[in-house]
Formats: sequence, C-alpha cells, structure tokens
Amino acid sequence: MTLPAIATTVAELRRALSPWRKDGIALVPTMGALHDGHLALVAAAKERTPHVAVSIFVNPTQFAPHEDFNSYPRTLEADREKLARANASLIFAPFAREMYPDGFATTVSLKGPAMGLETDFRPHFFDGVATIVAKLLIAAAPDYAMFGEKDYQQLLVVRRLVQDLNLPVEIIAVPVARESDGLAMSSRNAYLAPAERVVAGRLNGVMKDVISRMARGTGVVEAQAFGAAALKDAGFDSVDYVAVRDAQTLAPLTVLQEPARLLVAARIGKTRLIDNMAV
Ligand code: AMP
Repeated sequence: MTLPAIATTVAELRRALSPWRKDGIALVPTMGALHDGHLALVAAAKERTPHVAVSIFVNPTQFAPHEDFNSYPRTLEADREKLARANASLIFAPFAREMYPDGFATTVSLKGPAMGLETDFRPHFFDGVATIVAKLLIAAAPDYAMFGEKDYQQLLVVRRLVQDLNLPVEIIAVPVARESDGLAMSSRNAYLAPAERVVAGRLNGVMKDVISRMARGTGVVEAQAFGAAALKDAGFDSVDYVAVRDAQTLAPLTVLQEPARLLVAARIGKTRLIDNMAV
C-alpha cells in the first residue's frame, strides 16, 4: 500500500497538484479523524477525477476559546492509511502558521445562509469556516470540492461563498453517512461515553418522527416543539434548535413549503451533535 504524499505548505501543495491540472483535481476539505463519512466524500471525488487531494487541518479560527480545539482528535497516521485504501492522491496537512502567518488580518464573513441556527450558538464559527475554505480553494484551485450534507448550513455557506467570490470550482454535496442506528458519523462521536452513545442513537428516530408528524398535518411550529421535547425525553441534556427551514435559503418556515429541511443541534454532556434531513 503506497501512502499518499503529505504537503505541508501551500507551495508544496501547488507543486504536487500541477501535473494533474489537465485531468482535473478534486479537493476534500476535512479536519481529520477520518471516518466513513469523509471516505464517502473521497469516493464521490474519485468518480469525477483520479486526482483527489484531502486537506486535514483543525482550523483554530472556527473554535471559540471554550470549545474543543485542543481535545479535537488528531490521528494523521491512521488517516493517511485510510486515505491510501481510498486511493486519495495527496494530503495537505499544513501547520497553523502556514494558514495563519504572523500578522494575519483577513476574514471572509457572510450573512445570508450563515445567519441564525449555528451562528446563534457559535457566533465565530462561519467566519472561521468561510476564511479557511476560501484559503484552501485558492491554494488548491481544484475543479471540484466535496462537502457533506452532514453540515448542511455549512454547505450552503460554502456555495454562497463560491458564488460571491466567483471562485472557479464546482461544489459537490454528498449525502449524510450514518451508523447502523442512524447516528450521523462524526469525528466528535468519539467523545461519547457508551451510555451517551445510546442516547445519541435516538436522534435519528426523533427526526423521522418530526417529519412524519408534519406529513400527517402537524404544523411546523408544533412539530419543532415536539422534536425538542422528544430529544429531552430521549436523554439529551439540552437542545440548541430543532428547526424546519427552507432547504435552499434556510429562511424560517411557519407553514411547510417544499423543499424544506429539518435541522437539529443538541447536546449530551460535553458533546454537541448536529444533524439534518430532507423533509
Ligand atoms: P469535518 O472533518 O467534520 O470538518 O468534515 C469534513 C467534511 O466531511 C465536511 O464537508 C463534512 O460535512 C463531511 N462529513 C463529515 N461527516 C459526514 C457524514 N457523516 N456524512 C457525510 N459527510 C460528512
């Protein structure tokens, strides 16, 4: 098994990518601690081009000081082996100093799809994401960039960013990869103690229940309230939101209109889970 090469600077990344430009390049941005959800992005990229670069960078600017930046799992060697098996061509794993040199002073900031939901609870988050995604897309200049529907609001933020900055890249959305009990795969699931993992597995059923209630005529506001209460009953410690939104703009809905999306964020102990589903 040949391990994919690792570039740690933007200059190395560009040198490694340049012979592949004529065939097309896909970039899969990640924070590492790779699981099958990430590998689904790599597989979707491989359908488009043989040249798939995966960035692994735990981006400090998208974490607030009280969040889990220091404890976020870092497993580069295991990630590299998984990427070898998935036939990825290159890993871009820069040091923070490469992405944020001394005196760094530029931030990409959006309104639109970045407003509300995650921003209500993590106000710093999408500025950090938009800034690093813009930097990665400029550094790699890929033809395709893969993003998971797992982070649905992030996907819409990235699409908006690419449109607004005229970045010449096609954003490809990949469906949520789930465990057998329906829990969305996430690097943060590793934080869950066994009893917490059982609670987490109930999220999927509650979401399906919210959606089927709306299909039977329950109103949006009532269905959201049901969902939040059901998550508490299921053992979640707190619920940040259970929201039914316009699937394209994330505008709040009071009456169900298609296409709609159910988005949820809830906490078990110190772990915050997010998930979403088409309505
Ligand atoms: P992360 O490493 O958590 O920042 O995620 C990197 C990329 O993988 C993002 O585009 C995520 O949306 C995507 N991703 C993470 N988990 C999943 C999953 N369970 N299914 C599909 N995509 C995922």
